[in-house]
Amino acid sequence: MVLTAPNEIVLEDVARPGSRAGDVTVHITHTGICGTDYKIYNGSIPVQYPRIMGHEMAGEIVDPGSTSLKPGARVIIDPELFCGSCFHCRIGQTHLCPNGMLIGRDTNGGFAEFITVPASQVFALPAGVDPTHAPMIQVLTTCLHAQRQINIFPSEYVVVLGLGVTGQLHVQLAKARGAYVIGVTRSKEKRELAEKLGADITIPGGDDAIAKVKEATEGRGPDVVIETTGVVSQLSSAIHMARSGGRLLLFGIITAKEGALPFYDLYFKELALINARVAKGEDYPASIALVQRGTVRLEPLVSDVMPLGELKAAIGMLGSDSTQRMKIILDHQ
Ligand SMILES: [Zn+2]
Ligand SMILES: [Zn+2]
Repeated sequence: MVLTAPNEIVLEDVARPGSRAGDVTVHITHTGICGTDYKIYNGSIPVQYPRIMGHEMAGEIVDPGSTSLKPGARVIIDPELFCGSCFHCRIGQTHLCPNGMLIGRDTNGGFAEFITVPASQVFALPAGVDPTHAPMIQVLTTCLHAQRQINIFPSEYVVVLGLGVTGQLHVQLAKARGAYVIGVTRSKEKRELAEKLGADITIPGGDDAIAKVKEATEGRGPDVVIETTGVVSQLSSAIHMARSGGRLLLFGIITAKEGALPFYDLYFKELALINARVAKGEDYPASIALVQRGTVRLEPLVSDVMPLGELKAAIGMLGSDSTQRMKIILDHQ
């Protein structure tokens, strides 16, 4: 499925990607779509055309290259390419590589039959992981990478603002850390899902959410607030509700260039603001294990499974407001 211009996707025969020594060729079986695809599709994230999008990918090995994987082995693909030789790569911050590229944005991605990637990008999937849900492991790695930065201690109060796909993953990861987890969103359906997935309590989003969170946290506010919506006013709420000495994880990507925040509270409460971007290779084995053991459940987060040929309709669904829409998976069979 080739993006030829903004809002133009066509089904085309393209040459099978060539491979260099060490590369692995994968037959893609399932992909996920997300807001990044939506922004690439409508042109708000610029790319070179023609481009095959798709960065949440699972499939089967066709050519294992230098890896020990066998043809037919199930794998997921880490879409963050890095150069390996710059300052950041050499100190282990491959996700911040200035020469880094995202497969499906800067190079051709997974909305196709085959992809060829460096061996470093491929991770074996154990038998217990359903390949239909496996593309979401890429999303889970970004949540896990983010939570590595805030070091939740067992018993801490953790508020998750926004309970979309990433919010629901943060709820499950914070529970796995032994936290008392409070989910906040306007959507009743998403609150119910969060409770099913382990949130101790949920609170409707709105004007009195801050007061209700304080009430639920012995009056002092949560130790950690994980902001997943990317909306400035939500970050402002997070600053208001956190306890003095608390940590705020800015997970939702705020693209606004300006906005009002209670800056004095940041100082007076001595709050730590922690940002996290994408993920690293180290987050893949851990995320795969969490899914395989059932610590993190992906299946309840899938709202739609559609054939790859309906990519355009699927992306259109992302643009529409629905409180029930969660993850859309494309089945390539
Ligand atoms: Zn994505
Ligand atoms: Zn680099």
